[in-house]
Amino acid sequence: MRTAVSQLQLLEPHSLKEALIMLRDEQPLTPLAGCTDIYVNLNFGTLRERRFLNLWNLGSLRRIAMRGKTLSIGALATYTDLARSRLVCRRLPILVAAAREVGGVQVQNRGTIGGNIVNASPAGDTLPVLAVAEATLVLQSAGGTRRVPFLSFYTGYRKSVLRADELLISVEIPPLSGPQWFRKVGTRAAQAISKVVMAAIRSKTPRIAVGSVAPTVVRLPLTESHLASGGSIGEAKRILAAEIAPIDDLRSTAEYRRQVAANLLERFWRETK
Ligand SMILES: Cc1cc2nc3c(=O)[nH]c(=O)nc-3n(C[C@H](O)[C@H](O)[C@H](O)COP(=O)(O)OP(=O)(O)OC[C@H]3O[C@@H](n4cnc5c(N)ncnc54)[C@H](O)[C@@H]3O)c2cc1C
Repeated sequence: MRTAVSQLQLLEPHSLKEALIMLRDEQPLTPLAGCTDIYVNLNFGTLRERRFLNLWNLGSLRRIAMRGKTLSIGALATYTDLARSRLVCRRLPILVAAAREVGGVQVQNRGTIGGNIVNASPAGDTLPVLAVAEATLVLQSAGGTRRVPFLSFYTGYRKSVLRADELLISVEIPPLSGPQWFRKVGTRAAQAISKVVMAAIRSKTPRIAVGSVAPTVVRLPLTESHLASGGSIGEAKRILAAEIAPIDDLRSTAEYRRQVAANLLERFWRETK
């Protein structure tokens, strides 16, 4: 049964500082951004949390700007914001490609990059992009700020190092070189969660990351170093198949995912020659 909204409490901070103080002093408290993931649980009656912190009005967390040579993307930037940003289009076009494939227009207008990261689904479409970009996540609490490399953020299936008193503030993207490539495979073009999603950059050592094939998004170090040393794409596909750990679930079988991931690798290699 749908969770009764009357049972829920919503705190409305007017600034980031106020939000961080509420997180320190008013636990338990769950941050709310675009609410597209949380709303699903509300609708299915599986929502355990009762007290929420509304981040949506904290406009400073929506900013996309250059800080020196680093592209800084506010955690509240929506998929629509990402797709409309000239900076993101120029520096990280595969993030725009991923944003355009999330859900449908309504979800793109509300869903945020921060929510996609913290929700920690292995099928999150922006996650392979951030893995190959070697992004840094900026986490802030009332006590201070820390920077966590994206690849160290997840500790297991839907688990991360984010503490209950912290918010994800922004995502930092360092300068990147080499052609970028992104492909999502789902049941249909819109409103479909990925069966397999891959992002890659053809730099001197190629960077390849895949979602929906393991408990968290994964980089493929063995496949990457094989290709960097001039190894064949046929052997790279075999290495990739051993390097991922897909499961059978309602969206797909493990075997299908292995085959599709290997095919995507070949397409990446062919299309970025
Ligand atoms: C119909 C539909 C289709 C969808 N299709 C796709 C798809 O194709 N691809 C895909 O990847 N996802 C998809 N999603 C999932 C969803 O839209 C994304 O994960 C979205 O980016 C979540 O962002 P949000 O702002 O809505 O997060 P919310 O639902 O507000 O929050 C999600 C989680 O993140 C936490 N959180 C959010 N922001 C912060 C922050 N700044 N700091 C700390 N914690 C935070 C919240 O506490 C919560 O645990 C779909 C969802 C729906 C409903």
